[in-house]
Amino acid sequence: MTYIVGLTGGIGSGKSTVADLFAELGVPVIDADIVAREVVAKGSPLLAQIAENFGDEVLLENGELNRARLREWVFNDEAQKNWLNDLLHPAIREEMQARLRAQSYPYVLWVVPLLIENKLTALCQRILVVDVLPETQLLRAARRDKNKLELIKNIMAAQVGREERLRVADDIVDNNADLTDSLEILRQKVLELHQHYLQLAEQYND
Ligand code: ATP
Repeated sequence: MTYIVGLTGGIGSGKSTVADLFAELGVPVIDADIVAREVVAKGSPLLAQIAENFGDEVLLENGELNRARLREWVFNDEAQKNWLNDLLHPAIREEMQARLRAQSYPYVLWVVPLLIENKLTALCQRILVVDVLPETQLLRAARRDKNKLELIKNIMAAQVGREERLRVADDIVDNNADLTDSLEILRQKVLELHQHYLQLAEQYND
C-alpha cells in the first residue's frame, strides 16, 4: 500500500514551496487544491451545477470558475458553503483516491491545506506541517495574491490555529526564514525527511 505523507499548513505558509522541493527529488505530489480545481474545470458537469446554483456571475468571461468570487460568497453563507462542500467533496475524494492508488513510488506527498479542519488526518500515515508565524503568513499571502489583508485574516481565523496544527504534526518544516537565505537549508531539511519517509514506507510495507 502507498504510504501517504499529508502535508499541511495555513494559507501562505509555504506548502507549495516545500512540495516543490519533494517533487525535485522525484516524489509524487498530489495537491488537493489542484485536484479541486480540475474537478470544476471549464466544461465539467460540476461547474455547470455551480453556475446553475450561483448564477453565471460565478464564471469568468472565458467560462472558467471565478474562484475568488465564489470563495467570498460562500465565506459568509454557511448554507451555500455546505451545499458546495457536499457537491465537491465526494468528487474530490474519489479523484484523489484514484490518483493515490495509481502511484507506485514508495510514498506519496498529499498536499491538503485543510487536512486537520476537514478531519482527513486518519487517511495519512504521517503528517508534515509547514510552520510560519501568523504575521509572516499574512504578509506572504497578501503579497502573492494581492488580496485584501482583511480577507486573508478571515481565512486564517477559519483555519485551525498554529498550536493545534503543531500538536497534530509528526514532522515540522520551519519556513520562517526568508527564502533568499534559507532555500538550501529548506532543501536539506526536505532531503532528510525524504530519507526518513523512504525508510518508514519500507517498514510499512514489510
Ligand atoms: P496557499 O495555501 O495559500 O496556497 P502555500 O502554503 O502553498 O499557500 P506558498 O504558495 O508556497 O504557500 O507560499 C506563499 C507565498 O510565499 C508564495 O508567494 C511563496 O513564493 C512565498 N514564500 C514561501 N516561502 C517563503 C519563504 N521562506 N520566504 C519568502 N517567501 C516565501
